[in-house]
Amino acid sequence: MLKILIRPSTELYIGRNLLTTDRLLEFCGKLRTILIADVAIKDLYAVDLARKIHAELLTIPTGEKAKSRETEQNLIDELFKMGCGRDTLLIALGGGVTTDLVGFVASVYMRGVPLILIPTTLLAIVDAAIGGKTAIDTPYGKNLIGTIYSPKAIFADLDTLRTLPEKEWLNGFAEILKMGLIYDSSIWQKKGVKNDELILKAVQGKIAIVEQDPTELGFRRILNFGHTIGHAIEAISQYEMPHGEAVALGCVLEAHLSMHLGYLSERDFEQILGSFSSFPLRLPKNCTRQNLFNAMVYDKKNASGKVRFVLIDRIGHAISFEGQYCRPVSEKELKATFEWMKNN
Ligand code: NAD
Ligand code: ZN
Repeated sequence: MLKILIRPSTELYIGRNLLTTDRLLEFCGKLRTILIADVAIKDLYAVDLARKIHAELLTIPTGEKAKSRETEQNLIDELFKMGCGRDTLLIALGGGVTTDLVGFVASVYMRGVPLILIPTTLLAIVDAAIGGKTAIDTPYGKNLIGTIYSPKAIFADLDTLRTLPEKEWLNGFAEILKMGLIYDSSIWQKKGVKNDELILKAVQGKIAIVEQDPTELGFRRILNFGHTIGHAIEAISQYEMPHGEAVALGCVLEAHLSMHLGYLSERDFEQILGSFSSFPLRLPKNCTRQNLFNAMVYDKKNASGKVRFVLIDRIGHAISFEGQYCRPVSEKELKATFEWMKNN
């Protein structure tokens, strides 16, 4: 087990067999503890864990649809009915949907109660659980309501990934490769996705980035690499395409754009393309240059007719652009990248 302090005040424990150690129990202390879990992993992990740490167990439905105002209200109402006061500790057990939602509830319930996250997907371990962003979705868009709220601790137990379906591994893997592109080229020397060292490097990368820029004034923007195009593709596919697949495609296309604009070498681009070979890298059938651009303008709520992109000038390095870490790109400048995709 490795312990890492995330500034200002979160203790991250990462390793194996963590849910059976007493460290978690110590955090519960004299607090009333409520474990809130994705119902899909209730029998796998939640019931046992609740018993071990003497917690009361609540479950939330599975999937992105659960990250709603309705689930949030139900959960908060349940806490009121149970008579939970400020001395209540909320523990989230599940993927990014659960950590985002429970994080949000913890940040607003009675103006904030203590929170512990136990991420159980690769994506939540390397990405969603780190950095304090909480969120729920609305009919107007994803993640439009949220707070920035630090958990007391994060327990990333890699043993919980044993039951993770293969397609969920790919979602996390896309974010790990992204980290390799924007921040840590050594990620590219590690082989295979089920590799503890690789996971740890991605976690350390995310921590370093959010510590430098907790509220996303500049540097933290680099985490959006691959997501400008990725989010637009997801929306065009009406969320049929998994996030990881869309991000993988987004990373390749934004790397191509970096090359086309003269920042990235062709050699680096070819290497990047090769590294995403475990992903299908196909645009949705209904994707045209025009609806892709429109979706990006919409996603970024940007009326200027230009979309801002994070760009890289070598593997492992995003360009600063005077501390903005992004630059506007016109529809015309994007044309070559779209044509390349259509022809490959
Ligand atoms: P998820 O929480 O929906 O989990 C994916 C699936 O895996 C679910 O069906 C779940 O039931 C199942 N599952 C979870 N753990 C399992 C386990 N150990 N064994 C078997 N099955 C398991 O999705 P996700 O990919 O973990 O997270 C996606 C969410 O994270 C999105 O809502 C996204 O917006 C959010 N996110 C947040 C941040 C942030 O900074 N807050 C960053 C990235 C993503
Ligand atoms: Zn992502």
